[in-house]
Amino acid sequence: MIRFILATFACALSFATFLSSQQSATSTAHPSAAQQSATVSTKQSAATAPFTPPDKIFGYRDPTAELNAEKTFLAVPDPLLAKEHLRTLTAAPHVAGSLEDRKTAEYVLGQYKAAGLDAYIQEYKVWMALPLDIRVDVVEPENVIMHGPSPEKVSEDPYQNDPRILPAFNEYSPSGDVTAEVVYANYGRAEDFAKLKEMGIDLKGKIVIVRYGEVFRGVKPFLAAQYGAAGVIIYSDPWDDGYFKGDKYPKGPWRPDTAVQRGSVQYLFRYPGDPTTPGIASVPNLPASSRISPEAATDLPRIPITPLSYADATPILANLGGPESPRSWQGALPFTYHVGPGPVKVHMALKLNYQFVTIWDVLGVVRGSQFPDEWVLTGNHRDAWVYGAVDPNSGTAAQLEAVHGIGTLLKSGWRPKRTMLFASWDAEEEGLIGSTEFAEQHAKEISRADAYFNMDVAVAGPDFGASAVPSLKQYMRDVAKSVPSPMGGSVYDQWKATAEKKESERASHPDAPSSSMPQVEPTAIARQDVKVGDLGSGSDYTAFLQHLGVPSVDIGSHGPYGVYHSAFDNFAWFTKFADPTFVYEQEMARIYGLEIIRMASADVLPLNYEEYGKEIGEYVKAAELKAKTNFGTQAPSFADATKAAARLEKAGGDILKMQTALTGDAAVLNLLLRNAERAFLIDGLPDRPWYKHSIYAPGEHTGYAAVVIPGVNEAIESKDLAVTQKQLQILTAALNRAAGVLEAGNK
Ligand SMILES: [Zn+2]
Repeated sequence: MIRFILATFACALSFATFLSSQQSATSTAHPSAAQQSATVSTKQSAATAPFTPPDKIFGYRDPTAELNAEKTFLAVPDPLLAKEHLRTLTAAPHVAGSLEDRKTAEYVLGQYKAAGLDAYIQEYKVWMALPLDIRVDVVEPENVIMHGPSPEKVSEDPYQNDPRILPAFNEYSPSGDVTAEVVYANYGRAEDFAKLKEMGIDLKGKIVIVRYGEVFRGVKPFLAAQYGAAGVIIYSDPWDDGYFKGDKYPKGPWRPDTAVQRGSVQYLFRYPGDPTTPGIASVPNLPASSRISPEAATDLPRIPITPLSYADATPILANLGGPESPRSWQGALPFTYHVGPGPVKVHMALKLNYQFVTIWDVLGVVRGSQFPDEWVLTGNHRDAWVYGAVDPNSGTAAQLEAVHGIGTLLKSGWRPKRTMLFASWDAEEEGLIGSTEFAEQHAKEISRADAYFNMDVAVAGPDFGASAVPSLKQYMRDVAKSVPSPMGGSVYDQWKATAEKKESERASHPDAPSSSMPQVEPTAIARQDVKVGDLGSGSDYTAFLQHLGVPSVDIGSHGPYGVYHSAFDNFAWFTKFADPTFVYEQEMARIYGLEIIRMASADVLPLNYEEYGKEIGEYVKAAELKAKTNFGTQAPSFADATKAAARLEKAGGDILKMQTALTGDAAVLNLLLRNAERAFLIDGLPDRPWYKHSIYAPGEHTGYAAVVIPGVNEAIESKDLAVTQKQLQILTAALNRAAGVLEAGNK
């Protein structure tokens, strides 16, 4: 997924492309790989100030040893080695549970062990499907011929003919056979279905065709089913990531006609992971009686759903009658879009093979020297729909180079104070499965975790971005100041410059194509600093943050990326468009390694609860306004919640002074800081008890974008006064709990 302003990226949910104002990285913009790999280069572009890392680190009494370790670490990640990791990992399609996936697990295990990590493979047995036979045919009118899905083919691509490439499908669609008239429903958002209803279009028994984008793909069939649709086709419109954006692959980075976006349609806003084991781990010896039946799983769709390319969708859309679609629903295909229903009729016949499949997480541990039971967690997923060069193995390659750097430190005798755990998750694409099962299995140990650092797509282009809980936003800015950018200066300098450039472009071209990108809630605090996004869902931090309350971060470097979840997200595309010299791979290995190393040895944890309290105060204020609109004079009082947020901000500010002064008992301070995030946990959100975080959850109607203070906001949205009042009380209690935890530091 992408948020345009915040430049965050996540992948199971990820829907389209990062709209970059810059074209893809050109090789002339990069220093040579050798130059970058030799050392932490100070040879930078003349246009920017040379890179000077800060000499103070928040949370460290005496940063000397840490700065030395960081310097040693930063010199190790090597572009050419990252390239070799990526080439190896993407040599074959490696969907979760396949033989090729197992081989990538063994490769990662070997690299972890070579670096000196205590590494092992953890198996889980999970309910998943692979496609047996996927057919979508136009059956009426007679003169329209379309028998899809067509194979993904372009004029030249060295990877496209591999027989192991799976047909494009949507994971967790049921098998099914439907013939029906078609209706076009734009992006398949709540407002799109409401508009159709207003237009008098009945969806009962129809096949709904929607385009990818704006919301998580699983939300579209979730809503379509509520309107009585019999099936859903999700296609990629060239407006969103094809030729309307720029040259298509192989000439450019954008989606070619036949490329299809695969992806899961699990209702993961209900719960992610193995559908048959919500809340518990699918370990291999789990008794069958501990599982629920797939029929009872509330996160599985009940109508058939399948994806299409725009080559295959064109004959369907071009033959729709009925009224003209609203003008904002018009995509970039060369005819006027109508909504139907019919006269075009489609036959969807989907056969999926559901069974329990073994998947493989790889774990690597570096035992902490002083606090071995305190954990700094980190992970990237390894499984891909096809080759997965960008998503996710650009992240795996960067992770392995970070591990390489940590291996060099270990060989020099260095040890982190806290225990580090590296993970290579499996089956993220199906529904964040490997990470969710691991988190459920180790919930007790994870209650002593300080942070979880995620990296999914590491590199799709040159624009760095991060999302984090507010307590870690400043931390990420600080980490970015300590890593050189291939463009000169620090990663932070380039991040800020790019964000400012995009902001001013948006302001001056409000009607530019970017306005079709999702509109994010404005960041709570109008600060002069670079924005760090909020965590919704869509990647492996979900279980750690939203189920277990571990402060989390997600990072990535973005650019024009039109081949998401298609056969063309491969090594050839990557080396041509994303990162020809692998210097952004090096950058991401450095950022990723540094955020972990620095957290693992801090004297006092660098968690900023003043910023957290301030942001929550803004969320409460925005919700209050919305409640006034929706409930009028009946709107409940937000006074207690507002007061609780202010109390949290004050307690966060007080403890921040102690963190800054480094006075007092660090062990006590760290315990409070660690427990504050857990204090946000509640019994569960209405109708989705697996989600326990009172501040962040994936939205039921957005799926990937963060819904903030979700219990309250979703109740306001559904205009339910009683639930709003109850959720306000629950939120207020959580905020007071967190404030109380921090206030104990002053006693
Ligand atoms: Zn991914």
